[in-house]
This record gives sequence, structure tokens and C-alpha cells, in this order.
Amino acid sequence: MKIIPLFLPYAGCVRRCSYCQQHIATGISKIRSPADAGEFLAKAASGVKGDFLVGFYGGSFLALPFERISEYLDALPVSGRMKGIRISTTAESIEKAKIMKVMKKTRISAIEIGIESFNGDVLEKCGRPNHPFAFYRKKAGILKGMKIPLHIHLLCGLPGDSKEKYLDTARKAARLAPAGVRIHPAIVLKGTALAGLYAKGEYCPLDIGEAADLTALSLKYFIKKDIPVTRLGLFPDENLLKKGNIIAGPFHPAFGSIVWSRYYRKMLEERMHGPGRYMVYAPEGIIAHIIGFKKENMEYFNARGITIEIKPGSRLSIRKKYFPTRPIFAKKGEIS
Ligand code: SF4
Repeated sequence: MKIIPLFLPYAGCVRRCSYCQQHIATGISKIRSPADAGEFLAKAASGVKGDFLVGFYGGSFLALPFERISEYLDALPVSGRMKGIRISTTAESIEKAKIMKVMKKTRISAIEIGIESFNGDVLEKCGRPNHPFAFYRKKAGILKGMKIPLHIHLLCGLPGDSKEKYLDTARKAARLAPAGVRIHPAIVLKGTALAGLYAKGEYCPLDIGEAADLTALSLKYFIKKDIPVTRLGLFPDENLLKKGNIIAGPFHPAFGSIVWSRYYRKMLEERMHGPGRYMVYAPEGIIAHIIGFKKENMEYFNARGITIEIKPGSRLSIRKKYFPTRPIFAKKGEIS
């Protein structure tokens, strides 16, 4: 269903996390008042065919005082096509009583919380509070009890982060059984504390290959539990792409395609037996990922003396031509 995003940059935020630059990421310079929001939403809704949701994004919506939340909810389009709202917020602001008050006014179709990392060291370096896993489990339980789908946002490559810390974060995030997960690597944006650290040489972002490989490694935790990965990489908003807004870091408009390429490359590699010719059978939907972003997997394999022939199949399998004769099937949960 179409989502009309209403960006309220930093609304409700009690901190500025070191990597976050909502004005650049959303292209919105100030928070719309409820009256302005109402006008914007009415206009946007008139251009949408069929049902739609409204997304309150760009800040910690549920951390606003309820009176303010209420004013925004009263500004929602009065239309039978408006099927509810989605909310971005912090885990600290998940409170049953407040959410129930919101639900008296409109349906909540999903709540996304920015967890970013479960590692205390990383969180401290990013200016975020450090909560034990049990805290997040409790918050996830509140939403589950209210039948509100929980979505989680994670970041990799933050200051103080490492492969082990990030994979531990991904594993723990999957244990919360969210309805979806969004992942992107830390990018150095203009005007952030992270940009200051980068300028002083105290922070070095991942490069594209590192970020894609690391993100690809973490996908297994979500795929095994059938948790949809709803977005990989920052949305390439035209404002974000303006010269000077991205100072450094692994931004790529096709980051998701690169990650999926790396994911399937690794899966195939683990099932290969050295150089040679391989036959790969794969569902149509993943053949492009096996070939790789801009054919990078084909080049990668060719450089290692490996050639692969791909044919459509009902499930992913690979066999070395002539030997071994038995196909090596992917394990459950390895095909998205
Ligand atoms: S990351 Fe979230 S909580 Fe932190 S400043 Fe940005 S919007 Fe606010």
C-alpha cells in the first residue's frame, strides 16, 4: 500500500546521534506544524489512487507529548482510503498507555524503532543510550501484545563497531522477531558529529565492498527466520545527493543490489570445490543477484578460474560439471 511520508526532522528527539542528519536525509529543513502537515497530507492524498498510509518519519514521534501527537493525528486526511499510520520512534518511547491513546484515534500499521547497535561501546560513541537486550525484548513484547508489527533499523560500520559486534547486533535483532528490518552502513553526512570525528582522523567509514560484505553476512539471521529485509542502504533522496552533503562513506544508490550479489556469491563459493566449471540452477528472481551487480560475481569467479552456467530452477543448487555428480542444494532459509 502507498505510504505518504510526513518527515518531521528530529521531532521528539532528546539527543543528536552522531551519524544522524535528518535535514539532509529527508530534504526537509524544519518541522511542519500540524496545520501545515494537514495541508501537505491532503494535497498528497489527492494525488494517490486507492488506499494509503501516512508515515511519521524522521524523528521519535512517540516521544512527543501526547497533546502534540494528537494535533498531528487530527491533521490526517479524512478519507476512507486512509488506512492508518506508520511511525518511526525510539525504543524508550514505546509505552503501552500512550500507544493505546494513539490507537483510539487511528490504526497503527507498523512501528519502526532505531536500534542501530546492541553494543554498549558503539552506542556510547554514537551518543545513544545503552540498554540491555531485555529492555528491547520488553518493548518488542509490548508491541506484539498490541498486535502492532515491529520494524527494526540497524547500522553497520559505526564508530567502535567491528564485524563481530555488528553480527552480534544482527543476531540479537532477529531474536526480537520483527516484521521487517532495514539496514544501512554509517555514512559521514555534513553537519554531524561523525563528520567532526572523520575530519580529525578519528573515524574511518567502511568502504563499499566492506559494507556490502558485512551486511550480506548478517542477512542469514533474518532469512533463516523469514524476517523480511525491507531496505538495504540509505534512500537516495535528491537532497542527500546534493554536492557536499555526503562527506565520506559507503553510499551507493544500488547498495541493496550489491549486498544481495555478495550474499549469493558467498553462498555459491561455500559450495564450490575449487576452480572449474559449475552448473547453477536458480529461481528466476535471484539469477540477477548470482550474476552480480554489474556482473561483478561473474568477474570475481572468472578471476579465480571458475566459470558458471546458470539455468532457471525451482531452488538454488550448484554442481561441478562432471564431478561431483550429486547437486549441492542450498540449506533451508538460504533463498530469499
Ligand atoms: S538517530 Fe533517531 S533518535 Fe537519533 S537524532 Fe536521529 S532521529 Fe533522533
